[in-house]
Amino acid sequence: MSATIRAAVLRATGPISRDRLTLEHRELPPPCPGQILVTVRACGVCRTDLNIVEGDLPPRHPAIVPGHQIVGVVSEAAPGVDLALGTRVGISWVGGTDGTCRFCREGRENLCDAPVFTGYDIDGGYATAVVCRADFAYPLSDRLDDLHAAPLLCAGIIGFRALRVAGVVPGENVGLYGFGASAHLALAVLRSWGCSVSVATRGAGHRDFAEKLGADWVGKETDRPPQRLDRAITFAPSGDVVVAALGALRKGGVVAINAIHLDRMPQFDYDSLLWGEREIRSVTNMTRADARDFLELAVKIGLEPEATAFSLEHANDALRAVKNDAINGAAVITFQ
Ligand SMILES: [Zn+2]
Ligand SMILES: [Zn+2]
Repeated sequence: MSATIRAAVLRATGPISRDRLTLEHRELPPPCPGQILVTVRACGVCRTDLNIVEGDLPPRHPAIVPGHQIVGVVSEAAPGVDLALGTRVGISWVGGTDGTCRFCREGRENLCDAPVFTGYDIDGGYATAVVCRADFAYPLSDRLDDLHAAPLLCAGIIGFRALRVAGVVPGENVGLYGFGASAHLALAVLRSWGCSVSVATRGAGHRDFAEKLGADWVGKETDRPPQRLDRAITFAPSGDVVVAALGALRKGGVVAINAIHLDRMPQFDYDSLLWGEREIRSVTNMTRADARDFLELAVKIGLEPEATAFSLEHANDALRAVKNDAINGAAVITFQ
């Protein structure tokens, strides 16, 4: 059966100082083989959505519905799909991979040559319903409510992957540069691992928030923490911040860049900043194993993101709030 949905649609990119998403009614086709139709209950707003809406990421579709941190309920399934109607699931940024390229075959599906991204290649969750691949939907524990589960689905999973890419070992000194939706969840995970956490971020509000959540040291975005860092993760879309993080590392330390887009990468001094086997790594997408492992950990440690709810009618405002660092934690579009 086809379904009529309400969706916030992007037809022309540009600065979010003006509204870029328009509310439209759309027809959704019935799910194809392997797919499910999910009635959306909540959809987190990710910085990547902002990059798509503002055109930092090139448009791949003439009219796309953003949103890739979707919590919803399976309301229709193609024959043969192994998910019962009514199952509550989460859907994330990676909406599909080919399963055949060398990266998929090596267990590195985050680097797939032909990935499909939710809310970028295919319509996402700024809508009352969405169609997706059943094997890229994650059943959710009842212990996570809709509003608080949504930000886990990209901000949380990718923040967790960043900790893996950085090679964090329990008990280490770890720096987080930038303190939005992803970093505040990474902080909670790091504390559960007994790490000492330094947070460097612009905006006094975010610094206060980091202190409240138990950061061991808090400073401005290019301030140097008092102790050398074993690992640093940069979340701010700024190359200067990457260089600041490098400057805080011990020998052999790692900076993991958790950003799909950086303003630029500045020149920096090799002798003092990279020599000594320091490393810069980028964090790219996620695997389904990252998602499952993180969602399990989130339940175990009782992770509860700070979240601010917006209605679908206020999707543009939610994007502006993310851009202007106007809220602590995550913005989430919720549906009655
Ligand atoms: Zn692949
Ligand atoms: Zn995202």
